[in-house]
Amino acid sequence: MFEYAPAPESRSVVDIAPSYGLFINGTFEAPGSTGGVFKTVNPATEEVLAEVSAAGSEDVDRAVAAARSAFGPWSALPGAERAKYLFRIARIIQERSRELAVLESLDNGKPIKESRDVDLPLVAAHFFYYAGWADKLEYAGFGASPRPIGVAAQVIPWNFPLLMLAWKIAPALATGNTVVLKPAETTPLTALFFADICRQADLPPGVVNIITGAGETGRTLVEHPGVDKVAFTGSTEVGRQIARSVAGTGKRLTLELGGKAANIVFDDAPIDQAVEGIVNGIFFNQGHVCCAGSRLLVQESAYDEVMESLKRRMATLRLGDPLDKNTDIGAINSAEQLERIRVLTDAGSQEGAERWSPPCELPAQGFWFAPTIFTGVTQAHRIAREEIFGPVLSVLTFRTPAEAIEKANNTPYGLSAGIWSEKGSLILAVADKLRAGVIWANTFNKFDPTSPFGGYKESGYGREGGRHGLEAYLG
Ligand code: NAD
Repeated sequence: MFEYAPAPESRSVVDIAPSYGLFINGTFEAPGSTGGVFKTVNPATEEVLAEVSAAGSEDVDRAVAAARSAFGPWSALPGAERAKYLFRIARIIQERSRELAVLESLDNGKPIKESRDVDLPLVAAHFFYYAGWADKLEYAGFGASPRPIGVAAQVIPWNFPLLMLAWKIAPALATGNTVVLKPAETTPLTALFFADICRQADLPPGVVNIITGAGETGRTLVEHPGVDKVAFTGSTEVGRQIARSVAGTGKRLTLELGGKAANIVFDDAPIDQAVEGIVNGIFFNQGHVCCAGSRLLVQESAYDEVMESLKRRMATLRLGDPLDKNTDIGAINSAEQLERIRVLTDAGSQEGAERWSPPCELPAQGFWFAPTIFTGVTQAHRIAREEIFGPVLSVLTFRTPAEAIEKANNTPYGLSAGIWSEKGSLILAVADKLRAGVIWANTFNKFDPTSPFGGYKESGYGREGGRHGLEAYLG
């Protein structure tokens, strides 16, 4: 019952309605007396996909103890040996990527063409990339014999469940750390599938432990005294709580938090290309993207042309079944997230911004929100300041580069930004003044394992990806 049991050939993943245990020390176990169970649903249909264990404090103790016991032998392995495991994991991810993509879309609601063509290739690429570093750490610039930190507690959100897992686990393992990872409560299934892949790869027991549960499980894990490093991706509010609880404990901490990115379009930009970038920037993954281009800043002289073209393009977006390969916009991940989007968009209308969506029929069951833009937005509006984390774009205008920079930086966040112009010199001059960790030029939402990712201000601190991503796991 508590094994990870993929669906037999003849049945769909949904049919098996399984119960999943906690992955501790290389086996799936039932939770102890302090734990419990919860259900994860398909957000496109509201059907229960599986019953999943909620780890209690005893389970967290066991998972951290397993990671601690595994740390000595794992960190003592030559880097080339650790690399073999990571390469093996990467290859199995590629081999099983169709199953993983379907499961990700079922549990998260994202369109299959995104999980298949974006998430899964990037997940495998992260494991390949960090496998390549495992035997070259002395050349990474962190000293001749860089040391791992120990047991890493890793807590991740629901918007890119497997990709966030890869961002966390691959560099931690490459550098010789062991991990206890907690996926988000609405998207636990691909992390459990990944646990099965660890077994398939013969990863030594205890090197990776996956414990499922809600925020309380996450809190118990990050506050556990046996943890040496905490890596958190999620909301700024929870990130603040974690920063407070970790302060003074000696634990190392990295935080990847929210965003409210400006996508800045100058009047000399290639408009068709910019409109594709605007659409990708805010409607990719239903806008459940920390670095989403959720504030469009358009130069006044290009406003009419951009808006006309954007509306025409939005009318072609297909919303519906995430498993249909033609779907562009899938389901909102949960009823709570849908409610949050509704509250903020209602505030947008009440505060006087003008709301527009293309004609769009929403399915009767499940959690759905039509792609939406607000025009006439001012910097005082909540929809210009708060992270909506949904398919909702707030449009503002500017006249000069200086005004664009002032508006783009007028946010407590600092994760990402986009700039669209034919003039390289203008792009470089504006980029230089933007306070954002990632800046895209004439493109948006481009990711690569070799590039560091992370924010300033309330978007967090520390970098994931690239050589910089190793730093967070070396003492
Ligand atoms: P969330 O903060 O509610 O939850 C994130 C994770 O933290 C979940 O696993 C949750 O169970 C756990 N958690 C909740 N309370 C906790 C506590 N007190 N202690 C420890 N763990 C706790 O965020 P979410 O709604 O799952 O994700 C959306 C947020 O994540 C957005 O704000 C988004 O911008 C952010 N995000 C940031 C990045 C980035 O790289 N900067 C990437 C993806 C998502």
